[in-house]
Amino acid sequence: MNQLLWLQRDKMSEDRYIRYQKEKLIEYENLCKRCGACCGVFDNDPCINLKEEVKGKYFCAIYENKLGVQNSISGKEFICVPIWDILHKSWSGSFNCAYKKTILSWVYR
Ligand code: SF4
Ligand code: SF4
Repeated sequence: MNQLLWLQRDKMSEDRYIRYQKEKLIEYENLCKRCGACCGVFDNDPCINLKEEVKGKYFCAIYENKLGVQNSISGKEFICVPIWDILHKSWSGSFNCAYKKTILSWVYR
Protein backbone atom coordinates (compact mmCIF):
# COMPACT_ATOMS: atom_id res chain seq x y z
CA MET A 1 0.00 0.00 0.00
CA ASN A 2 1.47 3.33 -0.96
CA GLN A 3 1.76 6.27 1.41
CA LEU A 4 -1.32 8.09 0.03
CA LEU A 5 -3.51 5.05 0.65
CA TRP A 6 -2.15 4.73 4.17
CA LEU A 7 -2.95 8.38 4.85
CA GLN A 8 -6.51 7.96 3.46
CA ARG A 9 -7.04 4.89 5.58
CA ASP A 10 -5.81 6.69 8.71
CA LYS A 11 -8.06 9.65 7.96
CA MET A 12 -11.09 7.36 7.60
CA SER A 13 -10.34 5.65 10.90
CA GLU A 14 -9.93 9.01 12.59
CA ASP A 15 -13.26 10.26 11.16
CA ARG A 16 -14.98 7.06 12.28
CA TYR A 17 -13.46 7.38 15.73
CA ILE A 18 -14.56 11.03 16.09
CA ARG A 19 -18.07 10.07 14.94
CA TYR A 20 -18.09 7.21 17.43
CA GLN A 21 -17.05 9.56 20.25
CA LYS A 22 -19.81 12.04 19.35
CA GLU A 23 -22.42 9.27 19.25
CA LYS A 24 -21.26 7.94 22.62
CA LEU A 25 -21.38 11.43 24.14
CA ILE A 26 -24.99 11.90 22.97
CA GLU A 27 -25.87 8.43 24.25
CA TYR A 28 -24.25 9.29 27.59
CA GLU A 29 -25.99 12.68 27.86
CA ASN A 30 -29.35 11.07 27.01
CA LEU A 31 -29.05 8.72 29.97
CA CYS A 32 -29.80 11.58 32.34
CA LYS A 33 -33.46 11.64 33.38
CA ARG A 34 -33.19 15.30 34.43
CA CYS A 35 -34.58 14.49 37.85
CA GLY A 36 -32.48 17.26 39.45
CA ALA A 37 -31.41 15.06 42.35
CA CYS A 38 -27.70 15.73 41.83
CA CYS A 39 -28.43 19.48 41.94
CA GLY A 40 -30.22 19.31 45.29
CA VAL A 41 -33.86 19.24 44.21
CA PHE A 42 -34.73 16.80 47.01
CA ASP A 43 -32.84 18.81 49.65
CA ASN A 44 -35.24 21.77 49.58
CA ASP A 45 -32.27 24.02 48.82
CA PRO A 46 -31.24 23.28 45.24
CA CYS A 47 -28.66 25.05 43.15
CA ILE A 48 -29.74 28.48 42.03
CA ASN A 49 -29.04 27.49 38.41
CA LEU A 50 -31.44 24.57 38.44
CA LYS A 51 -34.61 25.38 36.48
CA GLU A 52 -37.76 23.32 36.12
CA GLU A 53 -38.73 22.87 32.48
CA VAL A 54 -41.88 20.81 33.03
CA LYS A 55 -43.11 19.15 36.20
CA GLY A 56 -40.33 16.96 37.54
CA LYS A 57 -37.89 17.67 34.68
CA TYR A 58 -35.03 20.08 35.28
CA PHE A 59 -32.18 21.68 33.40
CA CYS A 60 -29.08 23.62 34.32
CA ALA A 61 -29.23 27.23 33.16
CA ILE A 62 -25.42 27.40 32.85
CA TYR A 63 -24.74 23.86 31.70
CA GLU A 64 -21.67 24.67 29.56
CA ASN A 65 -20.03 26.56 32.44
CA LYS A 66 -21.45 24.66 35.39
CA LEU A 67 -18.24 23.35 36.98
CA GLY A 68 -16.83 25.20 39.98
CA VAL A 69 -18.21 27.23 42.86
CA GLN A 70 -21.99 27.70 42.77
CA ASN A 71 -24.67 28.79 45.22
CA SER A 72 -27.83 27.19 46.45
CA ILE A 73 -31.07 29.18 46.59
CA SER A 74 -30.42 29.98 50.26
CA GLY A 75 -26.91 31.20 49.38
CA LYS A 76 -24.83 28.22 50.51
CA GLU A 77 -21.65 27.77 48.46
CA PHE A 78 -20.79 24.40 47.00
CA ILE A 79 -18.71 23.05 44.15
CA CYS A 80 -20.42 21.68 41.07
CA VAL A 81 -18.48 18.66 39.80
CA PRO A 82 -18.97 16.21 36.92
CA ILE A 83 -21.52 13.54 37.79
CA TRP A 84 -18.83 10.84 37.52
CA ASP A 85 -17.05 12.39 40.53
CA ILE A 86 -19.98 11.71 42.87
CA LEU A 87 -21.39 8.44 41.61
CA HIS A 88 -19.68 6.53 44.43
CA LYS A 89 -21.48 8.73 47.01
CA SER A 90 -25.08 8.94 48.20
CA TRP A 91 -27.17 12.06 48.04
CA SER A 92 -30.90 12.72 48.30
CA GLY A 93 -32.51 10.86 45.42
CA SER A 94 -29.25 9.35 44.22
CA PHE A 95 -30.78 5.87 44.15
CA ASN A 96 -32.77 7.13 41.17
CA CYS A 97 -29.84 8.53 39.18
CA ALA A 98 -29.68 6.92 35.74
CA TYR A 99 -25.85 7.00 35.73
CA LYS A 100 -25.69 5.30 39.10
CA LYS A 101 -28.10 2.63 37.89
CA THR A 102 -26.02 2.14 34.73
CA ILE A 103 -22.80 1.72 36.71
CA LEU A 104 -24.46 -0.74 39.07
CA SER A 105 -25.81 -2.72 36.12
CA TRP A 106 -22.23 -2.99 34.76
CA VAL A 107 -20.91 -4.12 38.13
CA TYR A 108 -23.60 -6.72 38.79
CA ARG A 109 -24.19 -8.14 35.31
S1 SF4 B 1 -24.49 24.45 38.24
FE1 SF4 B 1 -24.18 22.29 38.71
S2 SF4 B 1 -25.41 21.91 40.56
FE2 SF4 B 1 -26.10 23.85 39.63
S3 SF4 B 1 -27.84 23.28 38.33
FE3 SF4 B 1 -25.98 23.32 37.06
S4 SF4 B 1 -25.28 21.18 37.07
FE4 SF4 B 1 -26.69 21.41 38.79
S1 SF4 C 1 -29.32 12.56 39.51
FE1 SF4 C 1 -28.56 11.54 37.66
S2 SF4 C 1 -30.38 11.29 36.36
FE2 SF4 C 1 -30.89 12.84 37.92
S3 SF4 C 1 -30.39 14.81 36.96
FE3 SF4 C 1 -28.58 14.14 38.08
S4 SF4 C 1 -27.33 13.05 36.58
FE4 SF4 C 1 -29.40 13.18 35.74
